[in-house]
Amino acid sequence: MTLGERLVEWFLGSRRDLPWRRQRTPYTTWVSEVMLQQTTVDVVAPRFVTFLDRFPDIKALAAAEEDDVVAAWSGLGYYRRARGLRRGALAVVERFAGEIPSDEEALLSLPGVGPYTAAAIRSLAFDLPAPAIDGNVARVAARLFDDDGDVGSATTRRRLQAHLFPHVPEGCAAAFSEALIELGALLCRPKDADCSACPVAEFCGARASGRVSQLPVKRPPKRARPVLSARGWVERGGSLLFVERPVDASLLPGFLELPGRWGPEGEEAPDVVREVLEGLGFDGVCTYEPVAEARHAITHHRIRSVAVRADVAGPAPRGCRFIPWDQVDPERVTTETRKLLQAREATA
Ligand code: SF4
Repeated sequence: MTLGERLVEWFLGSRRDLPWRRQRTPYTTWVSEVMLQQTTVDVVAPRFVTFLDRFPDIKALAAAEEDDVVAAWSGLGYYRRARGLRRGALAVVERFAGEIPSDEEALLSLPGVGPYTAAAIRSLAFDLPAPAIDGNVARVAARLFDDDGDVGSATTRRRLQAHLFPHVPEGCAAAFSEALIELGALLCRPKDADCSACPVAEFCGARASGRVSQLPVKRPPKRARPVLSARGWVERGGSLLFVERPVDASLLPGFLELPGRWGPEGEEAPDVVREVLEGLGFDGVCTYEPVAEARHAITHHRIRSVAVRADVAGPAPRGCRFIPWDQVDPERVTTETRKLLQAREATA
């Protein structure tokens, strides 16, 4: 018997009786997978049943008022998930005539559906070979294949999925995916894996190498580095100066932002702003006191943004333009600049 066949055989004989397994459809799979994000099986099970009584299918969910959906989510917390699910249901009704698609790209185009939920719907409801890798399954797969990559990284998760693909038994994709989930919940637990009772122990790489307790590897998140982002606040006749990011920029191409740059904390914002504005081609730059401050974070950086009022001489150089206050489109400015504009508005 192969690894996949052994897993499926064990699952069919040992599976827990859970409400979403009794009525497996794309809709019930979607609802249960969203509920199970950040919430335990014991908490989800009774609430899943009442939610399904209230909204038995995708059309009923799409037709419901948002407040009713949020009320039916009571006790599960993270109400953002309920709103996302209803938005997804509306999109299915509007764009797919009420039929949840099985195509990966179509699923990923739905609000609230990421790679994990798409794979779960495809494998569990449509019986397609697309093993869904959540934290639980990543742990099982890392041990089975003795993989010491960081399970928090997308690269490792893709590799684990690729490891699993060849083991999906013909015609048993759904049972295979559920078996991995079940193995992680019942035997291949985070701290005390019960390898002696495991149906696939003879195939397990970590058991053979003696690394069960060392896997999976989870690297601690990198510490965020503090940076100063100094920005020029250049007003002229009711307009504010913006720089347009290059159309081929890897990040936010074509977006508008206040002129400036990042640098280490410790630099003086007025000095940075003067240097940037002179670099853009303005003459006679004078800088004054800070007018707005905002904070935000992006991958591994903790950013303190400071906008400094500046007077400049001469017309706006190429790539820069003055835009009247009431014509600034908030959808076209970077998050950092939007926060600075909001901070300025709040204190003006
Ligand atoms: S043998 Fe142990 S570590 Fe390997 S899959 Fe089974 S329970 Fe997990």
